Amino acid sequence: MKKTATEMILFHQKVRGCNNFIFQDLGEFMPNGKTHMLVGAGVGLGVALIDKDKHQISHNPAFGAFIGAISGKLPDIIEPALNPNHRQFFHSYTVMTASIAAILKVYKWSPDTNFEKLIRGFVLIGGCAYLSHLICDSTTPKGLPLVGKL
Ligand SMILES: [Zn+2]
Repeated sequence: MKKTATEMILFHQKVRGCNNFIFQDLGEFMPNGKTHMLVGAGVGLGVALIDKDKHQISHNPAFGAFIGAISGKLPDIIEPALNPNHRQFFHSYTVMTASIAAILKVYKWSPDTNFEKLIRGFVLIGGCAYLSHLICDSTTPKGLPLVGKL
């Protein structure tokens, strides 16, 4: 039997007399760290494989997956899930829109030097993985804030 969030909160208030354990249980309502890293790794690998302008380091499939996994978790590293309102500025639709704009800009950029190619690869892969986190979170009942607090 699946309990609703409210039932679980009431249960913990009754049984433990405090609210400290609520959020662990609410975890099942939001993608956890492992899911975000897995999705990020998949996105990073995908971008590394399909991007047109590859660099031997940033677009190495294993490295792409690694950067993706870290970047996929990044929003929850900046704003850890310690309470149900942890999603603020770095989880917001504002940052989501800005990151889409940045990704498109970086995607169109044709770097001249090898180092610039590396930077482009990092930002593109990391940006897409970060975005995957916000997209996953936006599908949960709690959603994302429009701007959020800094
Ligand atoms: Zn998150």
